[in-house]
Amino acid sequence: MNQVSKIDFIKAEKLKEKPDPDTLQFGKNFTDYMFMMDFDGENGWVNPIIKPFESITLSPASFVFHYGQAVFEGLKAYKTIDGRSVIFRPEKHIARLNASCKRLCIPPLDSELVLEALTTLVELEKDWIPEKEGTSLYIRPFVISTEPYLGVRPSHHYKFMIILSPVGAYYSDGQLNPVKIYVEDEYVRAVKGGVGHVKTPGNYAASILAQERANEVGYEQVLWLDGKENKYIEEVGSMNIFFKINGEIYTPKLNGSILPGVTRDSVIQIVHDWGIPLHEELISIDDLYETYQKGQLEEVFGTGTAATISPVGELKWEEHVMTINHFETGEFAKKLYETMTGFHYGKIEDKF
Ligand code: PMP
Repeated sequence: MNQVSKIDFIKAEKLKEKPDPDTLQFGKNFTDYMFMMDFDGENGWVNPIIKPFESITLSPASFVFHYGQAVFEGLKAYKTIDGRSVIFRPEKHIARLNASCKRLCIPPLDSELVLEALTTLVELEKDWIPEKEGTSLYIRPFVISTEPYLGVRPSHHYKFMIILSPVGAYYSDGQLNPVKIYVEDEYVRAVKGGVGHVKTPGNYAASILAQERANEVGYEQVLWLDGKENKYIEEVGSMNIFFKINGEIYTPKLNGSILPGVTRDSVIQIVHDWGIPLHEELISIDDLYETYQKGQLEEVFGTGTAATISPVGELKWEEHVMTINHFETGEFAKKLYETMTGFHYGKIEDKF
């Protein structure tokens, strides 16, 4: 920790044994340390500290358990081919975290302090970043409301924490395996004016039932339609969605209920840089099906921190089954994946 840091430090007495990088499961192992900071109404955000990863004690009356006033982020640190530890687009994730705080009436975090906390914690834990291609250290910052009080209003007390989890390669064989997606036409994820555009736990809790149902009938994820007309395409599970139609790229425009993905943003920058026309617009599922029937739907892929790029091989909408690109990974998705992972591992200069 540098001299001017406001972040306190408690050293762990004993470090954990690192898990086998070949059998790492997502979100199961946690590193030796965590970051924590408290908010109280009188003093604001205080006591930033990095300390050994441990359980915390909360009153059963804590706000978060009852009214879900909480937000989180998900980002990754990678070990580059020349041995550096690099966090991908931390400023964008911090900005989204603060946007989530604003929507949930959580007092804003000092962006510079959060960046310092992220970089200091990741540097301290750099030996936990797995080195094999495709692996990374997942970073989970989150805020919970901790005031013991039963009543709906903003909590007066919060905790901001950052925990880290080493993750194995999403594509264990290095191949981008296409996924099967169920277009959800009964449940909805978010509505305009709601909280779909921010990262708050309730969005995910509300999505589990549809996800379970899709799994039961052999689909890995759901594609959400808009909450008003069940017509316009929004996003997939925890990914944004892109379509390649007649050589051009389409993605739903940010309409207030879609999460503005950091990967989505990077992909848009890359596609612009390649000079390929990209359209951010309302895309209805009927129109998409029509392009499919005309043979113009060339590729479909999701974008998100977990998978980076995830090709879609099949879309099921009502009684229609759309098989995309013969259920094979498209060249465009593959090239985007190579470019993005090139940025992650320092193989390609990230000029954005
Ligand atoms: N949509 C939702 C609902 C998500 O949870 C995520 C993952 N954060 C994404 C999209 C993709 O966002 P990002 O590219 O920032 O990971």
